[in-house]
Amino acid sequence: MPYGYNGKILRVDLTTGETSVEKPSVKFYRKYLGGNGFVSYYLLKELEKGIDPLSEKNILVFAASVVTGAPVPGFGRQSIGALSPLTGFYGTSEGGGHWGPELKFAGYDALIVKGKAKRPVYLWIKDGEAEIRDASGIWGKETGDTFDALAEELGDTKIRTLLIGPAGERLVKFAGVASDLRHYHGRTGMGAVMGSKNLKGVVVRGSQKTEVADPEKIKELNKFFLENFPKNADNRTLSKYGTTAYYYGANSAGGLPTDNFRKGHIEIEKTIEELHEALKIKTEGCYACPVRCKQVFKAEQPYNINPRFGGPEFETMGALGSNCGVNNLHATAKGHELCNRMGLDTISTGLTIAFAMECYEKGLITKEDTGGIELTFGNQDAMLEMIKKIAYREGYGDVLAEGSWAVAKKIGRGSEKFSISAKGMELALCDPRVKNGVALIYTISPLGGDHLQAEHDGAFDPMLTGYSHAADDPDFFMRGAYQIGVLEPVSSLSLGPEKVHLVTNLQHYWSLFDALDLCIFVFGPVRTFKPAQLVEIVNAVTGWETTMYELMKVGERVTNMMRIFNIVHAGLTRKDDHIPERLYDGLENGPMEGSKIDREEHQRALTYYYEMMGWDRENGVPHDGTLYGLELGEFIPMLKNRE
Ligand code: SF4
Repeated sequence: MPYGYNGKILRVDLTTGETSVEKPSVKFYRKYLGGNGFVSYYLLKELEKGIDPLSEKNILVFAASVVTGAPVPGFGRQSIGALSPLTGFYGTSEGGGHWGPELKFAGYDALIVKGKAKRPVYLWIKDGEAEIRDASGIWGKETGDTFDALAEELGDTKIRTLLIGPAGERLVKFAGVASDLRHYHGRTGMGAVMGSKNLKGVVVRGSQKTEVADPEKIKELNKFFLENFPKNADNRTLSKYGTTAYYYGANSAGGLPTDNFRKGHIEIEKTIEELHEALKIKTEGCYACPVRCKQVFKAEQPYNINPRFGGPEFETMGALGSNCGVNNLHATAKGHELCNRMGLDTISTGLTIAFAMECYEKGLITKEDTGGIELTFGNQDAMLEMIKKIAYREGYGDVLAEGSWAVAKKIGRGSEKFSISAKGMELALCDPRVKNGVALIYTISPLGGDHLQAEHDGAFDPMLTGYSHAADDPDFFMRGAYQIGVLEPVSSLSLGPEKVHLVTNLQHYWSLFDALDLCIFVFGPVRTFKPAQLVEIVNAVTGWETTMYELMKVGERVTNMMRIFNIVHAGLTRKDDHIPERLYDGLENGPMEGSKIDREEHQRALTYYYEMMGWDRENGVPHDGTLYGLELGEFIPMLKNRE
């Protein structure tokens, strides 16, 4: 057996009830690595053109990678992918926790699900055996109750689960997938795809540990991590407060999306210390990760918050907090709990509610439409009520369950500007008007409004690099950047060619992360394990003699495959590579008041990006030479014959 991975991929056909196993070659594993590498490969090779994403013809891929499950921090993630019902473009979502490692322990590296079950089912994968089981008794239940019922039925409380809630069952276009209840695959509507297949969950359990090629080297690198991680102030903050700290940081910097991205600053009613004092009961971590950045919140009054659903991350706090004008973080934490219980992406949920709030403010929707709910900015109870209505598609929630862009197209009358989305998916809570590279990230993301295509500008800003994070190591941030070919820092407020170069290189690296299913807080170039160490770790796990060059090429390859997919399956052209109109307007308050994206500079940056990627200037179609150079020649006919 190879080191690090199983060499086995499980196929399940829910229509026929058949399962089978395939054993790809070592070259296949080296070429795609796993995670989103596998997702992009199988979708590109096997998805029929012109299908409805919620029909049985869609394909769901669940994938871990060649290194998932090795005892290294940041290796506890997995990818889910399919054609997105929210956007009609490529859909994928990475999540943390323990599911990916457990799938590996159960004997598989990935799972490809086709067809549609006649009645609700779940998949039970245990030590190499796979079974499609009846889920009629749990259909309709929230994620927590579903977990309890499955644990009882299977007689095992240590099962690892990917589950949908009522939102996925009702095909809410931005329904997500809960990973062990506290972690989440939020983006692009993968929960709705599971719901459309009558697939309530995928439950895994395995007893076979991942064997690595060089255990001593892994021990040595883990020792390095444990010694060096706490030396960095940003890392210490991450362990103490998780990403909730970024909410306060973004607010001080004037870049915290507020009142539907009109403002960048809000008066927060609690300091970070007060928030954690009031709500936090503990921190937790993903598989094998000592960082333990996951916050667990609990409360009884005025909102009961059940700790089994964890606590909100930065994006959730922004989406269900400031961006809805809500400054009561207790209410925001309740919103997080509701979304996790019911199976909703907190980002799209929050931004769709904020969109509706602005429509309400402008009189485009009324109290009659909302069933009496006063949908005004700052009305925290209206926000919480609307979450439930969306999840169950009740009243106006049924309309909003389609996502803000679809609703805006229906309402018209200028409401399109209130949908803060790209390619039909709502933006994450990172405002490009204070870090311009993020404008390019949203523009070129294959998924739409996804912020995780590359590290954000601040880390490489000449004003910020080397500041208090590492007083004894002023080159701390840039050292990681050098290793992926970026030698100079660039201002956060630049969208010039240097910034495009930075984003392009970082995107190759981030795309590699998603193929390996790695955590950015452990492996980002400004974090503890630098790129050179990632290469050492991959070699120590797999026994390969890989290099940074080979790994970066995988990242670039996967980005190109997603591009081909979007061109072939969704007819993507330059006009789809866009940002919301609002970002060309100045921020209305805060320290960055007036800051905006320059339209012409933005378009120039997009052209530079296409050129740096080896794509044509007009529509970003990869050149034949680019694809041959990435060993993707087999997909060229698909691009040529797309009409
Ligand atoms: S740093 Fe946090 S999110 Fe990343 S693997 Fe560790 S615990 Fe999970």
